[in-house]
Amino acid sequence: MSIRFCPRCGEKTYEVLQSHSYCINCSYFPEDVERDRVNEEICAATTMPAKIKDDLARWSKALAAVM
Ligand SMILES: [Zn+2]
Repeated sequence: MSIRFCPRCGEKTYEVLQSHSYCINCSYFPEDVERDRVNEEICAATTMPAKIKDDLARWSKALAAVM
């Protein structure tokens, strides 16, 4: 185990272990960040079709009004 400077709070309270790293000062935990990023991607992927459907509905309404 080694203690390093935390990339988030800058304090020398960042424990670097073999399996994970953790900052005892600000609770920074890189795996959390990674999980959040993946969750956001999954969210974006699942909300995308609904948005496209919405856009399509809007466009076809606009086209119908023009024609
Ligand atoms: Zn920290």
